[in-house]
Amino acid sequence: MNQRTLDPRAPWVISTHDLGRRPGSMRRMSLTLPAPADVGVDMIGVPKDADVELEIRLEAVMEGVLVTGTARSPLRGECARCLEPVTSDTEVEFQELFFYSAEDAAEGDSLLYGELLDLEPAFRDAVVLTLPLSPVCSEDCAGLCVECGVRLADAEPDHGHEVIDARWAKLQGLVPEHNNDQES
Ligand SMILES: [Zn+2]
Ligand SMILES: [Zn+2]
Repeated sequence: MNQRTLDPRAPWVISTHDLGRRPGSMRRMSLTLPAPADVGVDMIGVPKDADVELEIRLEAVMEGVLVTGTARSPLRGECARCLEPVTSDTEVEFQELFFYSAEDAAEGDSLLYGELLDLEPAFRDAVVLTLPLSPVCSEDCAGLCVECGVRLADAEPDHGHEVIDARWAKLQGLVPEHNNDQES
């Protein structure tokens, strides 16, 4: 049925060789792994190859190997209000049971392939759930001026635009504009 195999050299593939299969057997591991590609949502995510620090516990149970862990990783993204770069980090907890046999597992459950298991999907799922849909550079970020697009945090405190009266708007077109905007 599922003939998938895992590459033992892939960074997120963990060997359970030393753990064995005796229920109750347990091992702890501390690992630093390079972040896989495309862990994130639109505005923020884990930079590819960034160091992800993992503390995991492998525990042999009747049906498979239960992995419980925490992962700490940096985040990089863009402020949803002003588009400035945002950097932060996240710590997530995850738990995943890897079944010895596909017969015991349901659709979508994780499996062991021989002595190997792949932690990447569990990490990915855990991180993505914690990411803000609208990351901000600071909680009180005022965003961009709706008129000219300048970042309000960088603008004069009284930044604003004169609202042109409709009667004058017509005349405005007759006068050459002195526009010193640096926008392209
Ligand atoms: Zn901002
Ligand atoms: Zn403006």
